Amino acid sequence: MKQYKTVVIGAGPGGYEAALKLAEAGVKTLLIDRSKERIGGTCLNEGCISAKTYLQSAEYVSKASHFGDCGVTLEVKGLDIARLGEKTESLKNEIRSGVVWLLDQAGVETLYGSAQFIDANSVKVSDEMIGFEKCIIATGSAVREVPLLPLDGKHIISSREVFKLEHLPASISIVGGGPIGCEFATFFSAFGVEVTLIVRGSQLLSAEDEDVSKALLRAFKKRNIKVMTSSVVKKAEVNVEGVELFIEGEAQESVQSELILCATGRIPYSEGLNPENAGVKRNEKGFIEVNRSFQTTQDHIYAVGDCIDTPAFAHTASTEAKIAVKNIVDGESFTNSHITPSTIFTDPAVAICGLREKEAKAQGRAVEVKKAFFKANAKAKIEGDDSGFAKMIVCSESGVILGASVIGLEATEIIHEMVLAIEKKLTAKELKEMIHAHPTISEIIGYL
Ligand SMILES: Cc1cc2nc3c(=O)[nH]c(=O)nc-3n(C[C@H](O)[C@H](O)[C@H](O)COP(=O)(O)OP(=O)(O)OC[C@H]3O[C@@H](n4cnc5c(N)ncnc54)[C@H](O)[C@@H]3O)c2cc1C
Repeated sequence: MKQYKTVVIGAGPGGYEAALKLAEAGVKTLLIDRSKERIGGTCLNEGCISAKTYLQSAEYVSKASHFGDCGVTLEVKGLDIARLGEKTESLKNEIRSGVVWLLDQAGVETLYGSAQFIDANSVKVSDEMIGFEKCIIATGSAVREVPLLPLDGKHIISSREVFKLEHLPASISIVGGGPIGCEFATFFSAFGVEVTLIVRGSQLLSAEDEDVSKALLRAFKKRNIKVMTSSVVKKAEVNVEGVELFIEGEAQESVQSELILCATGRIPYSEGLNPENAGVKRNEKGFIEVNRSFQTTQDHIYAVGDCIDTPAFAHTASTEAKIAVKNIVDGESFTNSHITPSTIFTDPAVAICGLREKEAKAQGRAVEVKKAFFKANAKAKIEGDDSGFAKMIVCSESGVILGASVIGLEATEIIHEMVLAIEKKLTAKELKEMIHAHPTISEIIGYL
């Protein structure tokens, strides 16, 4: 049996970051994933990179609508989705090669195949037995399948199959109003696809700020996206024209569309891993149980990323990986004290960090809410889209910034200033006094 100091299972942003950091610290490390193509995980293969490449095309179309006002004559003729698919593939290959190069340079060994635990110090991959002293599980997540909407890759698809579409449908019903559902509603509507968005809860992006969600709903309606909130799909019937969904909500309704996109969330993935063989427990939702230092119910086995119950972002996975590695290498119990930005690449884009207003209210905290609008931002006006706002939650007593949300141009970029301010415990006054160059989108932070 081959023996390693540390074995990392899963080569997504959690797993490959962990393997790189371990190797940099001189730890003999083996990184396992199901195949070489899986290096980069969900993020690279069917998540962040693919989705944001598709959304970039949508953003170009949206920007093009302002060209005429600026005297630029340009005709948008539509989307060559095959070309976009090729570009996405080539980008994925380029990024994957970069990660493989980094792993090689760092001296990380790789093994391809599905890992399953045999006991608390060994895993099996195909017929090969691997022994370890420490292990990091980073097996990620998978599409949540809903029995009422069986995925057939043709009429009813998940986010994975969007990137394999050979033509745009005339109409699509998207089930799920979370980040993935809202991002794809943005993508399809940009190219004139008739979009219906069916949302179980009373607001889009149910975890996020209510004002932001309302603003997004208004923007979606303006783009002719039909949003049905507080609505539940009761039945789906495939017919010659596509699929008819029977929906129960404020009214009973049926919606006919060519394609259904099931965006009902993700579930932790540990199929075939048999963590219980190692004494590693999963909770009732299937997440691997960890303490604040990312140790599982076995002290020497850690878990990070989408397979544990923390925000499902690539940057969360890689941050947790770095902390788990620090704990392994230094024998310490570091925890994640960082502020995690949530970024949603809709049009308008949304970004949120720190305490939400509704959380502050639920906790009975005395807070002041400050708001500034892009209507007063010169650069937003120059770019032709002055919709949206920035919002800040401030402790009434100390003036320290506790949370922030932005909806509008460059929201996913300018949120980082707020992340820094919250992490460094700046007061709203200190942030306001900082110079923001003119004319920039960031100036909105100076108005708060
Ligand atoms: C459509 C979409 C858009 C997204 N957009 C964003 C975004 O814009 N920004 C963002 O931060 N996040 C985004 N995400 C989320 C992001 O992709 C995940 O949070 C991130 O990939 C989680 O990283 P991870 O390392 O935990 O797991 P993953 O990236 O899922 O990687 C897990 C890896 O483990 C491997 N594996 C599983 N089981 C085994 C086993 N038994 N043996 C060997 N290997 C195994 C898998 O093959 C996989 O490669 C998006 C996700 C989706 C689906």
